[in-house]
Amino acid sequence: MNHKRPPVIAGNWKMNGTSEMVRQFSENIINNVWDENLKQCEIIVCPPTPFIQLFCENASQTALVVGGQDCHSSECGAYTGDVSALMLKDVGCNSVIVGHSERRISYNETNSTVKLKASAAKKAGLTAIVCVGETQDQKNDGETIGIVTTQVLESIPESASNIDTMIAYEPIWAIGTGKIPKINEIADVHNAIRGAVAKSKGTEVAERIRILYGGSVKPDNVAEILSIDDVDGALVGGASLSSNDFWSLCANAAKLFAMLNRKV
Ligand code: PEP
Repeated sequence: MNHKRPPVIAGNWKMNGTSEMVRQFSENIINNVWDENLKQCEIIVCPPTPFIQLFCENASQTALVVGGQDCHSSECGAYTGDVSALMLKDVGCNSVIVGHSERRISYNETNSTVKLKASAAKKAGLTAIVCVGETQDQKNDGETIGIVTTQVLESIPESASNIDTMIAYEPIWAIGTGKIPKINEIADVHNAIRGAVAKSKGTEVAERIRILYGGSVKPDNVAEILSIDDVDGALVGGASLSSNDFWSLCANAAKLFAMLNRKV
């Protein structure tokens, strides 16, 4: 983490949850004593689309912001089942995940699809959280840096900046498995991603763009992961589904922020 870049913790509920869960989650947040050190941190929850509006209403008195899990690249039209970035913005989202590996794999989304979605998000006034990451086989073959930097270069729109874009490095083999890369491996990949951004967008954007790590982030490993220099936040799947886990993860991050603040 670096004090130039405000940290982010983003929860991705995927296709889980109920309206009752949204109510309980928000109640727990409201009843939680907000840690001073979390005030500098952006906390985003991305619930399934049918719960976004309810989540926005329930979270309106809290520091929490809401994001979508995906958007279409068009503003409107004959795309049954899809939602546009404009619609997400309209119901109160500030961000949207694009290019999650589950969408790249299950819906054959390519880097160019992801780029169009990220452009739509920017146009609608949302921050795009662009996901990249390698498979286990690609890791075994030593291809991680090449795959991930290509995804970054091809998935992020030419006009993107640190204001409208975040990058989430999510090794596919680490998602939902309880396995994470070694700390030095995460550091190397994040450093390479920042280098790729510097090459395509310049050093100013590269220094300010936030790069999150995702894949089996839990309350007990979040501080170690966030203490890596080029890691500016976490994208959290499973541990964001329980308000207790999510808040202890945030609380552990807050302890780290407090320590780092003392050092700044
Ligand atoms: C994810 O799918 O974005 C994710 C990071 O999941 P998990 O935290 O459960 O590994």
